[in-house]
Amino acid sequence: MIRAGGPVTVERYMALSNAHYYATRDPLGAAGDFTTAPEISQMFGEMLGAALADCWLRAGAPADALYVELGPGRGTLAADALRVMRTAGFAGEVHFIETSPLLRDLQWQLHPDAEWHLELVTIPEDRPLLLVANEFFDALPVRQWVGDEERRVTIENDRLAFTVNGAVREDSPARDAMAWEIGAQLDVRGGVALIIDYGHARSGKGDTLQAVRGHRYADVLADPGEQDLTAHVDFEALARAASAGGVEATRVVSQREWLERLGIAARVEALAKAHPERADEFATARKRLCDPDAMGRLFKVMAVHSRPWPAPAGFEP
Ligand code: SAH
Repeated sequence: MIRAGGPVTVERYMALSNAHYYATRDPLGAAGDFTTAPEISQMFGEMLGAALADCWLRAGAPADALYVELGPGRGTLAADALRVMRTAGFAGEVHFIETSPLLRDLQWQLHPDAEWHLELVTIPEDRPLLLVANEFFDALPVRQWVGDEERRVTIENDRLAFTVNGAVREDSPARDAMAWEIGAQLDVRGGVALIIDYGHARSGKGDTLQAVRGHRYADVLADPGEQDLTAHVDFEALARAASAGGVEATRVVSQREWLERLGIAARVEALAKAHPERADEFATARKRLCDPDAMGRLFKVMAVHSRPWPAPAGFEP
């Protein structure tokens, strides 16, 4: 494309690369490129499911509420969360937003009754949503700016190169549009959304675009479509966009704070008691999820909820 039509924006480069990447492989786990929180331990999905079930019960347990997940990967998080939610009485339908045919197939194996969509607007109308997005927003494309110039990818000496270098600033119309849509849908239907991703609570400057391959950082301009491209999520921008849609955003907390407040310590104890031979595994998983030098600090959690619905647990000041 670049040879034929000239440089493309970083935004387009990231969008096209990731579309190919996710359509052609299961990127998760030891044999893949990266591991996500639900793939580390069942406890992550269980804590999330408990938070959603509690919020749903306090909202009066509407029977028509739907479980909706954006970019569900292998479907592991939904399986762990729904197991907890079902025991709390939630019997609602499951809807997934997923573009990758290959990942849809993996999700279908765990969730044969789910329905798949490309956008939120096609999800059955008027029903409240219990919505989840874990490591979804980081895969949506960002724009990069150097001063007033939008950064693009070109070809120099037969290799990909950026058109301009210097102090980079990022923004993301794709993420803002999705956050706005979540806010707008929750405002009309009622419900709550939990957004978990790596990134920062306040908007900032800097080049955060990165490539990951085989659990290592790689050159973002090498092998487009063959490695995972992500950029830090600006939670302040997401909150602004979702609120413009009409809902309340909670404060942003670290994954560690969120999981500890929801009671992961008690869950580790209960699992270790039930499976003493796996006690070390549960303790190690908690460390990977919560330690500041693992996922505990860089990963953040935020909820948005319609005004009549309560805020979910874990975000209290
Ligand atoms: N949430 C999962 C997987 C994270 S990987 C987990 O925590 O393990 C990102 C997921 O988002 C994949 O399922 C990918 O196919 C999906 N995805 C990426 N871009 C998308 C887009 N534009 N629309 C819908 N799904 C997308």
